[in-house]
Amino acid sequence: MERRLDIVPVGEWGIFPEGKPLMIAGPCSAESEVQIMETARRIKSLGINVFRAGIWKPRTHPNTFEGVGTVGLKWMQRVKNELGMKICTEVASEKHIFDCLKFGVDMVWIGARTTANPFLVQELAEALRDMDIPVLVKNPVSPDIDLWIGALERLNQAGIKKLGVIHRGFSTSGKIRYRNSPEWQLAVELRSRCPELPFFCDPSHIAGDRKYLQEISQRSLDLGLDGLMIESHCDPSCALSDASQQLTPEDLGTLMKNLAVRNPDSDSPEYKENIDRLREQIDAIDDQILSDIAMRMRISREIGEYKKRNNIAIIQASRWDAVLEKVTARGAEYGLSEHFISVIFNAIHDASVQVQNEILSGTAEK
Ligand code: PEP
Ligand code: MN
Repeated sequence: MERRLDIVPVGEWGIFPEGKPLMIAGPCSAESEVQIMETARRIKSLGINVFRAGIWKPRTHPNTFEGVGTVGLKWMQRVKNELGMKICTEVASEKHIFDCLKFGVDMVWIGARTTANPFLVQELAEALRDMDIPVLVKNPVSPDIDLWIGALERLNQAGIKKLGVIHRGFSTSGKIRYRNSPEWQLAVELRSRCPELPFFCDPSHIAGDRKYLQEISQRSLDLGLDGLMIESHCDPSCALSDASQQLTPEDLGTLMKNLAVRNPDSDSPEYKENIDRLREQIDAIDDQILSDIAMRMRISREIGEYKKRNNIAIIQASRWDAVLEKVTARGAEYGLSEHFISVIFNAIHDASVQVQNEILSGTAEK
């Protein structure tokens, strides 16, 4: 179901200069006044006008660097006053929000660990009420899209309309190339459920390593996301947090030059005509797929009734193994991956088993 949020378009926030992608860059953490000023100057010279830095850092282990605290906001304020950049940071408590306001912070974000906690999000929403400051919400650490949307709803219900989201990947116990799993399908789903939301990708926290930043940034733009939040440090080798995923402002400039920016749509009549024709073909094929699946389900139901009359169990594992093997081989001939075929056919099989179960237990609808 599409969720309606009441959102002010990002072009009216007075934060981002015109043009795509919308860019936010700056160090993982504020560490010193020199580091902040030096990094901001070099980022500004790339044409980026929105500066990030973590002031309070949620760390996995105690006794590690937990951010410089409020003093860092003074350095951020210098960036705003002397370089004319907009400044933003992460907030996780009411006190953080009030401190941000004192020092002229232009925008805040809610971190992944905080989004996962509805009590905290509600508290932040109350503190932000009537403040007219844009708020970006990172996805929760677990791949739970409703928890993410729930946080947006809480903020929106507190009157915060300058709202956006940041996709920073999800924790996983599986072994993957990246620090956090991108689960791109969840980003796509949120985009289609809440199309009005400005949507950022944070490739730094997805990657965990600067060598993946280019490919992840490109992927997010290819999916039509609006902007990027990237961690950049004047000297990443000395960074006090997330050193391996930060890159120098100059390397960030190279990354941006190499990005292919896609248009969301086109006004060209030729493009429109071609895309409409292709989409009609897709729609017709989708209809055909649906009617084939419906026919398959009818037959499956008939099989269920036949099994019931003969007192036969629903599942014969060997039969299903043989079907999967056959469709996987046929799929490969058509250039379809084994994973794709197994997802589709297992879903179809699950639905058939369910129908036959209902028939056997006498709960099937006539
Ligand atoms: C950050 O942006 O520095 C940060 C801590 O991010 P996340 O909440 O995504 O872990
Ligand atoms: Mn970080």
